[in-house]
Amino acid sequence: MKSLRVRFAPSPTGPLHIGNLRTALFNYLFAKKNKGSFILRFEDTDKERLIKKSEKHILNSLKWCGINPDEGPDNGKYGPYRQSKRKHIYKKYIKYLLKKEYAYSAFETKEDLNKIRNEYKYQGKLFIYNSLTRSNLNNSLNDFKQVKKNATIRLKVPASTTIKVNDILRGNISINSNYLDDKVLVKSDGNVTYHLANVIDDHLMKISHVIKGEEWISSFPIQQLLYNFFNWKMPIFLHLPLILNPIGKGKLSKRNSNNLNVPIFPLKWKDPIRLTTILGYRELGYFPEALLNMLAFLGWNPGGNKEIFSLKELISTFSLKDINFTSARFDKDKIQWINHRHLQSKSVYDLTRLVKISLKEKNIYFNNDHKLQQIILRIRSQCTFVYQIIDKSIYFFKKPRLNKPYINKVLLLQKYKKITKEILFLIIEWLKNNDKNKFKILKYFFYKLALNKKIKISYLFKILRVSFVGKLIGLDIYFIMKILKTNDLLKRILNLICLLT
Ligand code: GLU
Repeated sequence: MKSLRVRFAPSPTGPLHIGNLRTALFNYLFAKKNKGSFILRFEDTDKERLIKKSEKHILNSLKWCGINPDEGPDNGKYGPYRQSKRKHIYKKYIKYLLKKEYAYSAFETKEDLNKIRNEYKYQGKLFIYNSLTRSNLNNSLNDFKQVKKNATIRLKVPASTTIKVNDILRGNISINSNYLDDKVLVKSDGNVTYHLANVIDDHLMKISHVIKGEEWISSFPIQQLLYNFFNWKMPIFLHLPLILNPIGKGKLSKRNSNNLNVPIFPLKWKDPIRLTTILGYRELGYFPEALLNMLAFLGWNPGGNKEIFSLKELISTFSLKDINFTSARFDKDKIQWINHRHLQSKSVYDLTRLVKISLKEKNIYFNNDHKLQQIILRIRSQCTFVYQIIDKSIYFFKKPRLNKPYINKVLLLQKYKKITKEILFLIIEWLKNNDKNKFKILKYFFYKLALNKKIKISYLFKILRVSFVGKLIGLDIYFIMKILKTNDLLKRILNLICLLT
């Protein structure tokens, strides 16, 4: 049996959009589930639309997500995997189509065509370059002797024929060929277009299943015709449902990203013209597996209640039959919830590693893994992102900056300054001579101290919290004292004392 081969064929005309990442993901899951191959091919024939660095952005995004192609620009025996490097391959097929009269040369320039289109429009009609109009136009079918440089080559769509296509999600679809345009296969600059290159490459790369976005369905009959003309077996096709923006109106686009505050790229993108930077899911703190989990559910649902899947679990559960027909709405809150759940399901060792990386980026080096693990275990349930673990525990790694007016206010210093200072000195004394890690003894000391000094225990804790955290927030005071070294505790208390003089 022919092995299962799928491909992701992005055009490097901009950064990788999460809609396209979903297409890559579905192809990847399908390939991995069925022990097939996942191929990456760059469709870079449209020179005018190419954008520098987008290829890199696509490659890096896939890499970050762990979607690694089995074949692609770097390896594989069906290459080259960039269409711009396959021009020599296409030549033979163009010749064949012309010879068989499945294609013809057309001589109109862009301007000519615009003029014709406008004339039709003026008469309230839509211009389609095909069997209904081509006999009155300037092409090799009417004037075969005419040899012109810069001619385009068009597909000769047969007149009044029913073209049948089959999409495994939608079943059979029939289209009357009179509605189809004789698509340009080779542009006047000699470059082939998507329509032709895509079909030739899928065939030569032995693609068995084509899974792509619904936005490509209009070119499906054209591709079907090309397969027929070449007498090639058509791969199995599936067009994925659209991803709608969070308000459910229209496709999730780059514009929504700004208007609706929805991140749209996996990784940040620096616009080479405007020089603005748009942050991606990675920079915003999302896990790649959470992004993939969210994307998988945009158009796919295996049934059941389970909603949190690792990439491995997605692979083992994936099946084309669970792909929905209807468009999927992007849910902004859902991705946060999914990230939260992924954070909870990570092992404490993984989280420790990630927290350490983030700390290092802030030039903070905390080498006691055991203590870090204890902090993480206490905090993680309140966090959706790794950076929140750090934000919520920063006082363990950095001495707080005390703010005098704030301290005056929360410690009611007008009234309690003297006693506060006294207490702080007594705590210093105690810490110097006792072991803070002996919980019972420490607790006894605090209660006795409060009693002796006739203050509420809650006020005593307030003083300690302000010294250690700088604010009235944070974990349990005994836990904080357990984690911080005695030396740090002393320094922080002294720090507060300094502000009381
Ligand atoms: N090159 C097309 C794109 O930019 C791919 C269409 C296809 O998968 O056939 O997305």
